[in-house]
Amino acid sequence: MTNCFLCNELMVNKDDHERNPEKFTFKPKFRHKEHIIQNALGGRLKTDGILCESCGSKLNDEIDTEFISLFKLFTEKMKSKLAKERNRNISNEVKGRHMVSGKEIVYKDGRITAKKPHFEIDEVKKRVCIYANQFIMVQYKEHVRRTLLAQELPLEHYSIEEITEFADDENIGLYFSEGVNEFNAKWLMGYIKIATEFAIYCGINRTQLLRTLDTKAKKLINTDCILPFFPIGVFDMMIEQNRIFLERYYPSHTLILFTEQNRPDKKVLFCYIDLFSTFQFYVVLNDNYSGDDVFKTYCQKLEKEIKPEVDFRKLRLKHIRPVSESVGISFDKYEGKTIEELYQYVEAEYAKLTTIYELDLSEELYQIILNMVSAIAVATSNGTVSNPRLSIPVESFTYISDEWRGTVLRELKLHLNPDDTINPKYFRQQFLEPKGEDGYEILSTPSEIIHEMKRNETPMVVYGHMKFSHLSYYASKSTKPNFIKDGTNH
Ligand SMILES: [Zn+2]
Repeated sequence: MTNCFLCNELMVNKDDHERNPEKFTFKPKFRHKEHIIQNALGGRLKTDGILCESCGSKLNDEIDTEFISLFKLFTEKMKSKLAKERNRNISNEVKGRHMVSGKEIVYKDGRITAKKPHFEIDEVKKRVCIYANQFIMVQYKEHVRRTLLAQELPLEHYSIEEITEFADDENIGLYFSEGVNEFNAKWLMGYIKIATEFAIYCGINRTQLLRTLDTKAKKLINTDCILPFFPIGVFDMMIEQNRIFLERYYPSHTLILFTEQNRPDKKVLFCYIDLFSTFQFYVVLNDNYSGDDVFKTYCQKLEKEIKPEVDFRKLRLKHIRPVSESVGISFDKYEGKTIEELYQYVEAEYAKLTTIYELDLSEELYQIILNMVSAIAVATSNGTVSNPRLSIPVESFTYISDEWRGTVLRELKLHLNPDDTINPKYFRQQFLEPKGEDGYEILSTPSEIIHEMKRNETPMVVYGHMKFSHLSYYASKSTKPNFIKDGTNH
């Protein structure tokens, strides 16, 4: 028996109620499948044990609808690449503002066009710029010509420039945070909802989420509890600058629920949220947490996996089992005896296989670290890159100082277990800061971000733009380059 975290009422299965309504003396709350990261963002983690149907639809209306619309610029561009459980009927038109010209634009079906046809006269350059979409440009240009002639503008002295489409660059992206009314409030509530639901899902008591959940008013609240992630340590910085090349399933979603370590006075309960490997925030759920230490992670890939056709009947008999096992078919329950039974078994099992989107954070960090080590090795030896995917990381490790490279290598060790597996407990929680002669200090990432933000916010804004342009680069590629996708050649 579980209660809804918002209204705190007991939830029952709708089916049970429909079958035996007389058993209930009251109108119960029904269980509801809640996506902890929104379905429209490709989120796959769902549970029917945290939120009732009516609270689920309330939060969907109040928070999710707006929140997911803020991502439309990306989800719209990436929709052919991202796997979603089902497509909701949301408008595929995104309105925005071009940051350079300040013009209103419409993003639709992969094209950015000026919203309303218009023109501008540049008297200095003797130029007329005409903005219109490609379908009406011919007609509109004629209209402009007539208008200007009527105004007795000597058109023969002017050049005419037709602008049918805005350059699809990062400047378009910058609009995204600036043209939406109450952008921040809507944006932040989306993260607060994800963090709160993930904490409840991980078993944290609802009364412990003081900074995001008002249990009396039965609502999610923003108590200035959100902190943007920003790489202060050089290890995090090198990961993020090269993440599109180092991370094998870029872009991904990551959630980490943790209590801040090394704080004997009080424990802070955080949820780190990393959406599309780009939008990274800490949500403080409780800054005086009294429960046990917490460390829970969730990680998933987003890109659609297309299952290749396999004709098992064309394989040589001795290859059938190893090939089948390599794609994940188990023979533990196989009882067939004839060759035909074997074929039928593997074909049926293969048809049942679905892509698993959930990832193991330790394993993904291991791959990132492995790629970093290879890039550092090539950079320090001036060697040649055998793996083209790593050419940009190698370049970036070539240009940093020996001291910084040393710090990255030292921090690598912080994440390594004695058996060479990865301990993800430090990731996004702590980092190494060089301290005098060969010494290092372990610092708390969120605490240092708070200090840094008070000093100067500019690097954070620059970082945001860089992350944004990486995702734009990914989104604008019609297919993902092979060198990014193949992460298994070691
Ligand atoms: Zn409820």
